[in-house]
Amino acid sequence: MALQVQPKLIIHGGAGSSLHSKGGIQAVRQSLYTVVEEVYSLLLTGANASTAVVKGCQMLEDDPRFNAGTGSVLQSDGQIRMSASLMDGNIGRFSGVINVSRVKNPIELAQFLQASPDRVLSDYGAAELARELQVPSYNALTELRLQEWIQERQDNFKSTMAGVVAEPELVETSNAGRGTIGVVALDGYGKLAVATSTGGKGFERIGRVSDSATPAGNYATKQAGVSCTGIGEDILDECLAAKIVVRVTDGMSLAEAMQRSFAEANQNQRDLGAIALDATGAISWGKTSQVLLAAYHNGTTMGDTLEWNDGELIGYC
Ligand code: ASP
Repeated sequence: MALQVQPKLIIHGGAGSSLHSKGGIQAVRQSLYTVVEEVYSLLLTGANASTAVVKGCQMLEDDPRFNAGTGSVLQSDGQIRMSASLMDGNIGRFSGVINVSRVKNPIELAQFLQASPDRVLSDYGAAELARELQVPSYNALTELRLQEWIQERQDNFKSTMAGVVAEPELVETSNAGRGTIGVVALDGYGKLAVATSTGGKGFERIGRVSDSATPAGNYATKQAGVSCTGIGEDILDECLAAKIVVRVTDGMSLAEAMQRSFAEANQNQRDLGAIALDATGAISWGKTSQVLLAAYHNGTTMGDTLEWNDGELIGYC
């Protein structure tokens, strides 16, 4: 089927405190652009939005730099528990897994659950599903994340979150930050989907539930889609993704909805970021944190927010 509209794509690799090195920025940019290029070409070949966001998520989960899948942060007990969700805006359907262990790509479980009557599964249920689907057991641990955790344990877990991306420098200085991943796509048929995946905020107590597999962190309708990152509790308190999407669905422009929602979040001293697309093809991003690691394809060129620091709460194109 011929494409009816110009596909659009935006992805993120987390938000938080500044990256330590210029090398860190270049490496993250490279990682993000590789994913944008591949997923955007998939959209150009006619892939639907859900397929595209799952592919983007898988690639970001497989990149050890980001806090999702391989390279996930460790929780306070030294274990990895991951959460992921998928929302197909066109059919208005949310699915996800919460605190799943020992799988390579949590987003694949969320994708499977789109067609299930029970659409959000937590730890034990998610493990049962993985077993049923014969998903191979996988250890997502990386040496850097282990070192980060060992250091935090020595410091008695005083950081509020783990590093925004796995940078060797972070291990030495143990700077707080965060690094979930998310993908929002508008396909060539005008349909939207969004997917988000995380290892959590790092060093959290057992059983803590991330925003990433809730509509506060990942939400879409036919009109808009949003993926969030940052402190999950702050995202839940703002109900950020759903709030922005509902504002657009009720008639606000995407830029207005982002501006209003980020002004509120800022007023409430939240620490978070988000990426967004609407059905007209508008692309937007926002943050109250120091950095947002996002990259996009607007149909003509790729761009990113890695060095975005103009004092504004949102940006758009
Ligand atoms: N939002 C995620 C969480 O709190 C963390 C992140 O965005 O990096 O679990």
